[in-house]
Amino acid sequence: MSKKIAVIGAGISGMSSALLLAEQGHELHIIAKGFSPDITSNRAAAFWFPYHVRNDKRGIGWCRKSFAFYVANCGEATGISMKKIIKAAKANTGDEDSWLDFMQPNTVKIMYNSEAPKGYDIAYETHVPLVETQIFLPWLYKQLEGKKASFKKQELLDLHSITTEYDAVINCSALGARVLCNDHSVIPVRGQVVLLEPGFPNHIFLDNQTPSYIVPRKDATIVGGTYEENVYDEKTEKEGLDDILRRAYSVFEGLDKRKIIGNWAGLRPYRPQVRLEREADTNIIHNYGHGGSGYTLAFGCAEDVVKLVEEL
Ligand SMILES: Cc1cc2nc3c(=O)[nH]c(=O)nc-3n(C[C@H](O)[C@H](O)[C@H](O)COP(=O)(O)OP(=O)(O)OC[C@H]3O[C@@H](n4cnc5c(N)ncnc54)[C@H](O)[C@@H]3O)c2cc1C
Repeated sequence: MSKKIAVIGAGISGMSSALLLAEQGHELHIIAKGFSPDITSNRAAAFWFPYHVRNDKRGIGWCRKSFAFYVANCGEATGISMKKIIKAAKANTGDEDSWLDFMQPNTVKIMYNSEAPKGYDIAYETHVPLVETQIFLPWLYKQLEGKKASFKKQELLDLHSITTEYDAVINCSALGARVLCNDHSVIPVRGQVVLLEPGFPNHIFLDNQTPSYIVPRKDATIVGGTYEENVYDEKTEKEGLDDILRRAYSVFEGLDKRKIIGNWAGLRPYRPQVRLEREADTNIIHNYGHGGSGYTLAFGCAEDVVKLVEEL
């Protein structure tokens, strides 16, 4: 039976939930304080990689389902493509290969010593989805418009105030949950990036430890990053950007010749565990706190949201 559903939040968590719910024939109403391009979901590098979720046993399923969604939806129109990724590490750095559990068997090649990038002892090579947020978020909005979803710009102050209007309220408000749910376990983790002119390199590079990453989008090469807990300011700082470039230049010869075309910062909605559950005795379903893995988790989490709605 078709339900009337409100989704709070228009980032990747809200939009993936809304899309899968609309595909089930439900009537969707998206309410958000901010829409693309003015939200964190636009500032992600947005390649598939499990980050912040490896201590949660639900994570493997969520990540794999999202991977499958992106593979099935690769294309110019969606802005999704499969890209080679080189993940590099120094020796004896602890939890360096637990992410392999998230990959399908026999899809990752190990590169030792001389094969690894400059300055690294070991590296892994595989292919993962890259989601170009500047193309994919507008595409998602368009899909939802095609399914007659409504969009309303509004800051909600109380989730419970709208529960009688809808059969279900899906809370995908990310950092907004600090106020909406009085949940102070969600904190901002700022990430800054530099944008270089596009064209080089043509694969993703990742070193989680520093953290450094390079992501080849069509409109820019994204060079990251930083991991700054409890920083609320979405501005970039020269010192952070210089450090990002210094690290990237030391790995990729010739990168310092590329023109700098911009920068940005975004606030990852970190929570020790993603909150994905129905709030007891209500029709509210929470789906927030995806940290640095919002894209990696989105469509797996959205499948669980659909299941929880079916149980209402
Ligand atoms: C620099 C950087 C790089 C990243 N790289 C990657 C990556 O490579 N791979 C990956 O998987 N993830 C990455 N991430 C993480 C990813 O961006 C986030 O996990 C994801 O965007 C979170 O999506 P969301 O929809 O939950 O939140 P958001 O995009 O923040 O959306 C929240 C929505 O809720 C709305 N909202 C909040 N409060 C209210 C309210 N009271 N009333 C109404 N609306 C409200 C907001 O306006 C917004 O629409 C990166 C993040 C950063 C900053």
